[in-house]
Amino acid sequence: MSQCCQPRPPPTSLENRQAANRTTALIVPALLIGIVGYVTWVVVVLIGTNYLIQHGGRNGTGIAIIVLYFMFFFPMTISYLRLLMTIPHPGYIEKGSSTAATPVRPAKEAPPQHNIQASCTSTKVQDGTNQSADKKYTSTPQEPAVTLLDTKAILSGELPPPSGTERFYSRDVFACDQNGLPIWCGVCNNWKPDRSHHGSDVGRCVLKMDHFCPWVGGVVGERNFNFFVQFCSYAGIYALFVMIVMAIFVAEARSRGNSPGGNWVAGVTLGAVFTLFAGGMAMTSIGLALKNLTTIDNIGHQRRVMHIAVLVDSAQHRQPRPMSTDHVKPTHGSEDDEDPWQGTITYPLTVMPDASSETTLPPPSSSPPRTFAILRTHPGMNPWNLGAFRNFKSIMGNHWYDWFLPLRHSPCCNHDRGDSMYELGPDVERLKTDAGLSSSSSRGGPSRRKHRKHRHRREDSEDVDIMGSTLANVNGSTGRERNSFESA
Ligand SMILES: [Zn+2]
Repeated sequence: MSQCCQPRPPPTSLENRQAANRTTALIVPALLIGIVGYVTWVVVVLIGTNYLIQHGGRNGTGIAIIVLYFMFFFPMTISYLRLLMTIPHPGYIEKGSSTAATPVRPAKEAPPQHNIQASCTSTKVQDGTNQSADKKYTSTPQEPAVTLLDTKAILSGELPPPSGTERFYSRDVFACDQNGLPIWCGVCNNWKPDRSHHGSDVGRCVLKMDHFCPWVGGVVGERNFNFFVQFCSYAGIYALFVMIVMAIFVAEARSRGNSPGGNWVAGVTLGAVFTLFAGGMAMTSIGLALKNLTTIDNIGHQRRVMHIAVLVDSAQHRQPRPMSTDHVKPTHGSEDDEDPWQGTITYPLTVMPDASSETTLPPPSSSPPRTFAILRTHPGMNPWNLGAFRNFKSIMGNHWYDWFLPLRHSPCCNHDRGDSMYELGPDVERLKTDAGLSSSSSRGGPSRRKHRKHRHRREDSEDVDIMGSTLANVNGSTGRERNSFESA
């Protein structure tokens, strides 16, 4: 039987959704172009030319309205075309090879106790339910094959990690899971760079993915969010102008006892609808830019905690912590006061000789070891929050003209900085201080007192964190042994 005659498996729900997205990607932009074309005909031909110039004798008013119309029309159109140009490259992450020898086990083979739930993000809501802003992937017939990391085997050296960890530990700070490993995407078979999310609509991880936008038929992410903001803003202003102009002449016609006609009323209606839609999206997007959050980040943001790995150098010390003699669970304090310290991890990860010989991976790296503290952020903390104005500039541009001209990509697209993938905000330094991880010049002080106050809570949390104790077995530097790190 030839290949084409073999029965195809029924499409999965994901395939259906992706097919629907492809259709939407064709229909919605065409529909938008049709609506704008219609509105142009109403304002320029019916109002400006026919009503005002030819029949009303109000040449000045007619010409002014036509000129103003195109002053609002062109920025919107140009920013829309610029946005469409970037849709094929919103910041996709390369997919890993599913055939390469990787230290992962297919979901069905992985021992249950080794499998953390495969999610495309490390973010975890504080209620402990491991809720994720991204879709959680489980191996069901409706979902694509998901490859789960055998985290325990990697941490114990039985299996080498998938290639690519050096892209993370070569920096000083990176987003990680609770074990200190970079975030793994089991669908893309690759490590997820900081702030990337897996878009199930497109089946790919995207840098700073914001959302799948039917208006432009694709993903809005790191490389086009600024153009999206500009397009929404210009579209909102354009629609507001159309609504006001059309409302004025509809009212004028009615005051003269004439019927304004269906096209005029349609112009007012379309202007009002798109003022609300585009204007609302513009304000929402600008608000997110000021907070340096994506739409996905913003979901459950106030309760979300994440983990970051912070390089510990010889000038930094873990504060010695007096062991608690009070084992009564406290009733005071908030979850914000919990100790961020989760342990340490040292890269390159140690791999047992027989483990590396079983794979086709290159031999272990000879790069010098780099030890990272694994810190859990306080609920709602955004490590990349630089302050409203710097957040805005990191997305919309460093120069005022970049804010208006849809030409250049955001400054945050530049990942050449060595310390982290994105510029870090002051909350990271505060988190390090809260974790007792500070330079020798800043030892003691309010943070130290805060730690003493809540030390009994930390001891509780150590006992709860099973994965943390796994790490303690690997590195011997977490839990109650962590004070020894001070001498590092
Ligand atoms: Zn992915």
